[in-house]
This record gives sequence, C-alpha cells and structure tokens, in this order.
Amino acid sequence: MRRVIISGGTRGIGLACVKAFCDNGDRVAFIYKNSNYKAEEIAKRYGALPIRADISVEDDVKRAVEIALEALGGVDILVNNAGISEIGLFTDMSGADWHNVINTNLSGVFFMSRDISREMIKQKYGRIINIGSVWGRCGASCEVAYSASKAGVRGLTMSMAKELGPSGITVNCIEPGVIETDMNSHFDGDTMRELCDETSLCRIGKPEDVAGAVLFFASDRASFITGQILGVDGGFEI
Ligand code: NDP
Repeated sequence: MRRVIISGGTRGIGLACVKAFCDNGDRVAFIYKNSNYKAEEIAKRYGALPIRADISVEDDVKRAVEIALEALGGVDILVNNAGISEIGLFTDMSGADWHNVINTNLSGVFFMSRDISREMIKQKYGRIINIGSVWGRCGASCEVAYSASKAGVRGLTMSMAKELGPSGITVNCIEPGVIETDMNSHFDGDTMRELCDETSLCRIGKPEDVAGAVLFFASDRASFITGQILGVDGGFEI
C-alpha cells in the first residue's frame, strides 16, 4: 500500500487522481484551499485524508506536510496538481495577480516538493509527478502568468530530477491539453469547439485521461523514467 499526497484533490484532475489511487488501495492525503464541504464528502466516500492549506504560503505547506506525513506514516508519491489560471491581457495584469499565479503554480510546487523530498531522501525512494500545461510549452495569449508558471514547472521538473535522482527519487511532469474541469468553465461553446478542433483526437480530455498518466509515472513500470515531460493533450498543436 503506497502513501500518496496530492495537492488540489477536491475537483477536476486532482479529484480523479484521489479516486484512482484510492481505488488502487493506496493511502491518500489531499490538500485543498477552499472547498470544505466537497473535501469532507470525498474523505467519506474514498477514505482519503483532506488537509486544508494554501500551497502558495510556505508555512501552510510546512504544516500540511507535517500532518500528512504523520497520518500516512511517511510518503512514497507526491502529485503536485493544484493550480489556478488568470485570464486577461498581459498589459492589464496587476502585480498582485501575477504573484498569485506564480506563487500558486510554481512556488507551490517548489514548497511541496522541497518539504516532501526531505522525507523521500531519508528513505531513498520517491515519485514526484508535477502537473504542468501544454501552455507551458507553447504559451497562451491572455494567460501570460499561467504560461510562465507552467514553463517554470518544466524547468523545476528537470532540475529536481537531476538533484534527486541519486536519492532514488524520480521527478516527471505531465502537460495536459484541454481537460473538462472547472478551470475551463468560463470558456463559451465556440471557444471550446475551437480548442477541440486544435486537438488531433477531436475531443476535450477527461480528468481520468490525466490520472491514468499520473498512475503510470507512479508505477514500477516507470522506475527508469525521470526528468521527462509527457503531453496528455490528445495531440494538441502538433
Ligand atoms: P480545478 O480548478 O478543477 O481544481 C483546482 C484544484 O486546486 C482544487 O482542488 C483547488 O482547491 C486546488 N487549489 C487551487 N489553488 C490552491 C492553493 N493555493 N492551495 C491549495 N489548493 C489549491 O483545476 P484542474 O483540475 O483543471 O487543474 C489541475 C491542474 O492541471 C492545474 O495545475 C492546472 O493548471 C493543470 N491543467 C489543467 C488543464 C485543464 O484544461 N483543466 C490543462 C492543463 C493543465 P479548492 O477546491 O479548495 O479551491
């Protein structure tokens, strides 16, 4: 039975990961920011441990990691999934909005990985799976901070893989394309159809499509794979 910590487990891709690991018989703790009611429901239904914390706040992460390690008795797998997007013209973006996106999507991955890998280093084993975005590869208009944060996750993945490899820890990144979650709920039908047209497989992805790749990177089958970036995007922009 593996011990798994997932950030952003109340909705979308993170929730699909919580379900997938719980269905597999693993012990799961998940972090969320606001959705108390949903978190309790998920805890009851799947037996996962909910921890309320803001991953963009260093001390909050420290506290959440301590709670998770105590409850699970350690950690084998970390899924850095929580993220936010901020839509709008780059020229209109405030410094506060920029910092909020970077602090959540990039610093949050750093805080979580640093605090958890200290534990993984002691046991000489661990799997870290970061959720980036296709926009971190090709850049999205009107999502400049988001694209920059996700490009940062690429770099963080490769450098952490080099530094943590000698300790038996793999670090990989999944870059989803357009996935049907709350994050995309502001897009109208026409925009979703356009995004669908840009996807070679002609469909919007499901959170489970991403969770399947997360499970692969967490499995023994991926034990010689590290520092890699995998697009789970239905062939978006190829
Ligand atoms: P959702 O908006 O559906 O869910 C986001 C999750 O992250 C929620 O559980 C939310 O908690 C949590 N969260 C947000 N901010 C924080 C924070 N500061 N601290 C702790 N938890 C936080 O997102 P998706 O499932 O769509 O996205 C998941 C990941 O996949 C993100 O990193 C996203 O960038 C990436 N991605 C998504 C794509 C898509 O098309 N959906 C495409 C490419 C990448 P709460 O419910 O409490 O707010």
